[in-house]
Amino acid sequence: MDALLSDKESWYYMKLLTFTLGIGMEVLHQYFEQKILQSMDFYVFVEKYKHYLFHECFPTVQCCECSQMQLAAQSKRGCLNEIQFQLLFEIAPPSKLDHYKKGRNNTIVKDCLCRIDAKRSNEVDCMDITLMCAIIKSCLINNNTSIYGNPRFLETIKETRNFLAHSTDLRIAKSEFDTRWDKTEHAVIEIASVVGNYFLKLQKRKIDAFKDNELSMENIKTIIDNNADEVKKNLQTLVADQRKNTILIKDEIIENLTKYKDYLDELSIDIGSLKFEVKQYALAVVASCSAEETFDSQVHQKDAATRISEVSVTEKDKDNSRCRVEWRLETPSTWNLLEIKETLEKFSALLRQWFEIEFVYVGSLVIKTLVKKNVLDNQDQMRKSIHSFLEKIVDVCKIKTDVSAVIKVALIIDPGESDYKEEAEEQTSKIEMNKKDKTTCIFCNKSFDCQNCLQKAKIISSLEDELSGKNLNCI
Ligand SMILES: [Zn+2]
Ligand SMILES: [Zn+2]
Ligand SMILES: [Zn+2]
Repeated sequence: MDALLSDKESWYYMKLLTFTLGIGMEVLHQYFEQKILQSMDFYVFVEKYKHYLFHECFPTVQCCECSQMQLAAQSKRGCLNEIQFQLLFEIAPPSKLDHYKKGRNNTIVKDCLCRIDAKRSNEVDCMDITLMCAIIKSCLINNNTSIYGNPRFLETIKETRNFLAHSTDLRIAKSEFDTRWDKTEHAVIEIASVVGNYFLKLQKRKIDAFKDNELSMENIKTIIDNNADEVKKNLQTLVADQRKNTILIKDEIIENLTKYKDYLDELSIDIGSLKFEVKQYALAVVASCSAEETFDSQVHQKDAATRISEVSVTEKDKDNSRCRVEWRLETPSTWNLLEIKETLEKFSALLRQWFEIEFVYVGSLVIKTLVKKNVLDNQDQMRKSIHSFLEKIVDVCKIKTDVSAVIKVALIIDPGESDYKEEAEEQTSKIEMNKKDKTTCIFCNKSFDCQNCLQKAKIISSLEDELSGKNLNCI
C-alpha cells in the first residue's frame, strides 16, 4: 500500500513538471515571440541587447562599449552564467587589440564586444524559464522598458519550476500539488491571455484535456527530446524508475493474492509459448486477504463469492448491466508496459466485445474493465471471454509469444453493478475517424511513413482490415 501511495506522489510530480515544461513553456515561448520580440527575430533582439547581456555575465569587466555607456561596475551582480551566455552568443578570438586587455594572472580586464555575435540559429525555444526571466529582466525591466503582461506571473511559473527542480525525492504530496497546480495554471492562463483571446481559448482547452487525461508518454517524450530546461532529466529518471517500481508493486500484489487459496475459478491459457495462469477472485476476498482471518471475514468471503449469481437484476436491464473486473498481470520484465498501456487505450474499442477497458494503470499492468453481467454469471462464457481478451491484447500489443513465459493473472471481480454509461457510439466514431484519415498516423499525427511509427502503422492497418471484416458488428 505504501508503495502504491508514494507512486501516486511521484505521479503528481510528473504531472506538474510535464505541465510546466509542456503547456507552460509553450505559452511562455509564444508570449515571448508575440509580445516581447513582436516582429523581431530572436537573434536580432539578443544582438540589440548584447551589451546588457554581456554585463549580466561579466558584471565587473570593462568592455569596448562601456566608453559610450558605462555598465561595468565593481558592485554589480550578474544574473547569467557562462553556459547561458554561450548558448546565446558566438565568441570569436579577439581581433581589435586596442579593444581587449589582459591583466595579471591572464585575467581579462577589458573585453571586446565586437568579437561577440548573437547566434543566428537560435529561436525562442532555446530559452528555459530561467533564461527567459533573466533576459526580460536585464534587457527590459531593469531599463525601465514596460512589457506586456505582469512579470509576476513569469515568476510564479519559475517558482514552480524551481520547486520541482529542488525536490530531492521527485515526489509531491497531494495538498502541495493542488496549491502549486492552481497557482501555476492561473499564471499560464494569465500569460496566454496577454498573447490573445483565441490563443487563450486554445490553451484553456489544452489544459482541460491535460487535466482530464492520463499522462501521455508521447507528451513526456516530446519534452525529453526538445525542452531546453535541464530539469527534464527528472522526467527521464521517473520514467526509468516507473519501469523498475512496476516490478516491485506488481510482485507485492500477486504475492498477496496467491497466498489466498479461495478463488472463484482458475484456468490456464496458452498463446504461443506464453502461458497465462488466470485466477478469478471476488472483491471482498481480496480486500480481506491481508487481514487476520476471522470467522467473521470468512463468512463475508463466502457471501461475496456466492453473491455473484445471486444479485437479482430485472430481466430488462440484464443485458446491459456490467460489473467491474480488475486485471492484474505479473508481466515479464521484457514487456514495455508504457507502450502496452498506450496501445490498449487506443484500441479499447476492439477489445470491448469481451471486456471494456476503463483505465490502464501505468505503474504496473493493471487493467480496469467492465464485463457484462450475464457473461460473468456464466463460467464457460467468462472463460471464453478471458481467453479472447488475452489473445487480442497479445496480438494488438505485438507481444512476443516465441519465448516461453508463465504470466500469472489475477482477476478481481466486483460483483456489484457499475454505474455504466453507454459510450459505444462515441468510441466507434473515433475509430471511424481514424479510418477515414488514412494519411495521418494517430500516434504522432505525422504521415504513415513516419519511421518511428512504422510498427504501429502496421498494427493500425491490420486493425483496419479487421474493422472492415467480421468484427465490425461487434463494436
Ligand atoms: Zn560594457
Ligand atoms: Zn570591440
Ligand atoms: Zn507516426
